Amino acid sequence: MPDTIPSLTDIPYRSQLHPDTIAFLQAQPKQLLIGGKWVPSASGQTFTTYEPSTGQPLAEVYEAQGEDVDRAVAAARAAFERWRKITPHQRERLLHKLADLIEQHTRELAEIETLDNGKPLTAARLVDVPSTVEMFRYYAGWPTKIEGGVKPVSVPNRLNYTLREPVGVVGAIIPWNFPLNMISWKLGPALAAGNCVVLKPAEQTSLSAVRFGELVCEAGFPAGVVNLVNGRGEVTGAALAAHTGVDKIAFTGSMEVGRLILSAAAGNLKRVSLELGGKSPFIIFDDADLRKAAVSAAGSIFGNAGQSCNAGSRLFVQRSAYDQVLDTVTARARAIKVGVGMDAATSMGPLTSLEQLQRINSYLESGRQAGASIRTGAGRPVGVPEGGYFVAPTIFENTREDMAIVREEIFGPVLVAAPFDTLEEVAQRANDTPYGLAAGVWTKDIGRAHKLAGMLQTGTVWVNCYSQFDPASPFGGYKQSGFGRDMGQEALELYTNVKSVWISVD
Ligand code: NAP
Ligand code: MG
Repeated sequence: MPDTIPSLTDIPYRSQLHPDTIAFLQAQPKQLLIGGKWVPSASGQTFTTYEPSTGQPLAEVYEAQGEDVDRAVAAARAAFERWRKITPHQRERLLHKLADLIEQHTRELAEIETLDNGKPLTAARLVDVPSTVEMFRYYAGWPTKIEGGVKPVSVPNRLNYTLREPVGVVGAIIPWNFPLNMISWKLGPALAAGNCVVLKPAEQTSLSAVRFGELVCEAGFPAGVVNLVNGRGEVTGAALAAHTGVDKIAFTGSMEVGRLILSAAAGNLKRVSLELGGKSPFIIFDDADLRKAAVSAAGSIFGNAGQSCNAGSRLFVQRSAYDQVLDTVTARARAIKVGVGMDAATSMGPLTSLEQLQRINSYLESGRQAGASIRTGAGRPVGVPEGGYFVAPTIFENTREDMAIVREEIFGPVLVAAPFDTLEEVAQRANDTPYGLAAGVWTKDIGRAHKLAGMLQTGTVWVNCYSQFDPASPFGGYKQSGFGRDMGQEALELYTNVKSVWISVD
C-alpha cells in the first residue's frame, strides 16, 4: 500500500467501520476482474481514489489499459457462448442470489459508497443499497418471461415467429453519482437478457464496483460473465467504447462524453444507449400545495449534493406564489447540515471530486459575474473539514435565460429560481434547453397537469411529486439527454436482438 494513504486510525471514523469494510480497504491495490480472476493491470499502473469528505487518499486501484480491456472483452466473448445456453431459470436464481448477497452486505457496501463518493451514510444505507437490491430482484424475474411472438403473416403455408436473443458483450460505462445504482441499472437487464458484461465504473468511485465484483463471484456467476475494468475514461472507457468485440455500450454520464461514445461506436456499429443528464424544470403553480411543493423542490436539487441527473435545477414558480415558495426553499437550504458523509448528523455530503468542486465554484463565479443575485449559499459551509470538497446549498435569482447557470447542467447543489405567469409561457421556457430528461409539475388543477405533461419535452414528468423511481418504470431522455431507456421492460428490450424465424409448413 502506498504510504500516502493514511492508516485507518489517522481518521477517527475509519477505525469504527464494519470489520468487513476495514478488511476490504486494507487489501490494496484493488484489482481488475477478468475471466473470473482478480488480476493486476498488465502495465502495473495504478491510480488513487480519494475520500471527498477529507480530500485524503482512500485506496489505490489498478488501471486497465487497452491490453486489459482486450482481455476482458475476450473473456466476456468466450463466456457468452456458454452463458447464453444457461437456462432462464438458472439466470433467475443467480440474479436472486446476487441480490441477496448485496442485501446481506448492506452496511459494508454503504460504508464503501460513502467513503468513496461522499454521500451521507444514511442515504447510502437506506436508499442506494436497497434500491440496488430491488433492481436486481426485479430483473431476476425477467429471464423466464422474455418471449417472442407468433406473427399473423399472410404468406400461405408459412409459420413466422420471433425470438429475443441477447446482443452479446455489453460495455457498461457509468458515472460516480450513484455508483451501485448505476451498476444495477445496466447489469440487471444485461444479465437477465443473457449478455456478458465488461463494466467500467467512474475512476472516482471504483471501490463499490470492486466489492460488487466479489459478490458476483460469490453468487456463482460463471467466469467471464461479469468483468470489471477500473480506470480513467479517456483510457479505459475509450478503449471499451471503440472495441470491435463489444456489441453494445450502455452509458450514463455527460453530454460531451456521450458524443465521444457515439463516434467511437461507429467502427463496428455497436448499439448504444445514452443517459446524459439534464437541466430539469420544476414548475409550481399558485394553486399547488405550496409547502409540499417547496420542500420537494429543495429535496430535488440539494439531495445527493445536487449530483443527480434528474435534479430539479430550474425552479419556476407562478408569480403570486413566488415569494412564499422561495422563503420555504431558502429556509430548507439553510437548514441542511452539510458535513462528512460518515457523520450520522449529515444531511448533505461533499461533492464527489475536487474537479467537481472546482467546476461548481466556477459556475458560482459565472453566476455572480453575469449579475444573478444570490439568495443563499455560494460559499464554503462553516465547520466542514479542511480539504473536503464542500459547497453550501445555493439559490440564484434574477437570472436571464442566456446565463450559463441557467442553460448548463451544473451537477451540484445550485438552484436557479424564476417567476412565471402563464402555462404557455412556462412550457416554452421549460423546453428552451437542449436537455429533456425530466420535469416536475405542481398544481391541483388536473386538466392543467395533463396539458403541461403533454407539452413538456422530457422523458419523465412527475406531477405533485418528484424523483420517483421504480424498476418497472422506464427512465431516460428526450432531445440531447440521450436515447434508450434504463429500467423496465423498455431497457430489457435494448439488451436483446429480435430474430424472425420463417418455417415452411407446406
Ligand atoms: P463523464 O466524464 O461523462 O463520465 C462518465 C463516465 O464516462 C465515467 O466512467 C468516465 O470515466 C467515462 N468517460 C470519460 N471520458 C470517456 C471517454 N472518452 N470514453 C469513454 N468513457 C469515458 O462525467 P464526469 O466527468 O464524471 O462528470 C462531468 C459531468 O457529467 C457532470 O458535471 C454532469 O454534468 C455530467 N454527469 C451526468 C450524469 C448523469 O447521471 N447523467 C452523471 C455523472 C455526470 P472517468 O470518470 O473515470 O473519467
Ligand atoms: Mg471524468
